[in-house]
Amino acid sequence: MSDYLKTGFLTKEDIIDNFPTVDKISKHAVAISECVQEIPCNPCVSSCPTGAISMNDIKDPPKINYDLCIGCGKCVMVCPGLALFLVRKTDTLYEVSIPYEMIPIPKVGDEVYLLNRLGEKVGTGKVTKVLKAEKETQSSVITVSFYEEKLIYEVRNIEVIHE
Ligand code: SF4
Ligand code: SF4
Repeated sequence: MSDYLKTGFLTKEDIIDNFPTVDKISKHAVAISECVQEIPCNPCVSSCPTGAISMNDIKDPPKINYDLCIGCGKCVMVCPGLALFLVRKTDTLYEVSIPYEMIPIPKVGDEVYLLNRLGEKVGTGKVTKVLKAEKETQSSVITVSFYEEKLIYEVRNIEVIHE
């Protein structure tokens, strides 16, 4: 595991062991967690309509049951740490859904730069779905698609391309 407490960010090596299989993310989107700190927090657990997120103690990082997750995105929307994402594989593309707090909210069809955890541009993609926040305390959830499989482990933010 990388020393994320020193660097401030996770790497693919930190998440790969618990990452859902290609089979799991091919049926529908599945939530993944990058919440690793022991903090007293659990809105993700109470937001989940299927009971897919669990923790033994409120300070534990959440565990996601990929068999129960239906990819609705509610947990991504309510997570104050912006630590939850959705990943999906379609017939031809990969998708990542990210919590997004900037204004204006991107629109379906927008071309975007795909950013890694350091905010570096790692590719380009297109917005395929927008789930708008329902309350001020929530994030919107923006889904972007791209062709490279390796980017599902890297893309964690976006920047709309303005021509
Ligand atoms: S995406 Fe929906 S079903 Fe899946 S863990 Fe989050 S809230 Fe639960
Ligand atoms: S809501 Fe977010 S920050 Fe809080 S425990 Fe769940 S994943 Fe972690």
